Amino acid sequence: MTVQQKAGERKVLVTGGAGFIGSHLTDRLLELGDRVVVLDNFNRFYDPEVKRRNVSGHLDNPLYLLIEGDLRDERTLDKVFEHGEFDVVVHLAAMAGVRPSLSEPAYYMDVNVVGTQRLLDRIMSCSPGTRLVFGSSSSVYGKRSGECFRESDRTDQPLSPYAASKVAGEALCYAAHNVAGLAVACLRFFTVFGPRQRPDLAIHKFCKLIDAGQPVEVFGDGTSRRDYTYVSDIVAGVLAAMTYDLPGYDIINLGRSDPVVLADMIRCLEAALGKKANLIHQPMPPGEMPYTYADTEKAQRALGYAPRVSFEDGIRRFVDWYRSTKACSTSSPL
Ligand code: NAD
Repeated sequence: MTVQQKAGERKVLVTGGAGFIGSHLTDRLLELGDRVVVLDNFNRFYDPEVKRRNVSGHLDNPLYLLIEGDLRDERTLDKVFEHGEFDVVVHLAAMAGVRPSLSEPAYYMDVNVVGTQRLLDRIMSCSPGTRLVFGSSSSVYGKRSGECFRESDRTDQPLSPYAASKVAGEALCYAAHNVAGLAVACLRFFTVFGPRQRPDLAIHKFCKLIDAGQPVEVFGDGTSRRDYTYVSDIVAGVLAAMTYDLPGYDIINLGRSDPVVLADMIRCLEAALGKKANLIHQPMPPGEMPYTYADTEKAQRALGYAPRVSFEDGIRRFVDWYRSTKACSTSSPL
């Protein structure tokens, strides 16, 4: 199934569109001339002022509509769907992050599982011709001893409540596809980084601590690896997933397929900042994956996906953004 509307002619709902990935996607959709409705509740997972800044440039754009409210709230969903059908819904609203999900598992399930089902119910009843692009995660693969992660690999042993909620989200999407014929592409993002990255994620957190000369707590012996993927490459993958020839329901990895060892990530940040990190090693907490590594063959074949930004270049761009945000603000950029 191919979405007939071309870029510039579409009406797109982006849930979580004030957040890190969602705001980059929104910027790009508006550049292409699409109409964008953003649903976001500006929750306090991190400073909501950061999210306000992410959306501030678009509030006067006639192609842009911000609906502030909770995905789980039926009246908020009434407001979203009173604007008629959407060509595409990109569902990114979620409680993200592995570690915080350990202390609030029921809340993660409520937002990520119940919230996703409420959205699916609305799409099925109010906008059944919509294509849904679901923001899933590499965390669904759990602990592995093999090499790269393929879409066909098992996902029945998630290591954290967050990971379990993403496995469940994919399953709910499949059920909606089966019951109502909903077209769904689940995209498994691998650790996304770049300007506006969430402050709880390691690159952002470490950058701030190294810059301030404060100790950096490192989990494990520094040999864990992450397949860091630059945000513009993720956005390119999402845009391609909005139009490719979708076989009804699909799952596709979006990574860089080139994992970086934690110690090298820190060295790269030190080089970009021109400062040395003061490391304090702590045992690896439960829930963390020892490594992530995307097989991107399917993304290349189906979406024409080809990540363009190297890790080193991405870190330089991130640090430039970090410095510019710091320079513009009298308070912390976080
Ligand atoms: P983010 O926290 O910056 O963005 C999520 C947005 O959703 C936030 O603006 C938040 O306010 C909003 N939100 C949360 N709960 C909501 C609710 N109940 N109702 C309405 N809005 C709500 O996170 P992000 O890093 O941009 O992640 C976006 C999506 O991508 C998430 O689904 C996340 O699980 C997934 N993902 C992210 C990464 C990554 O490395 N950043 C990796 C894998 C998957």
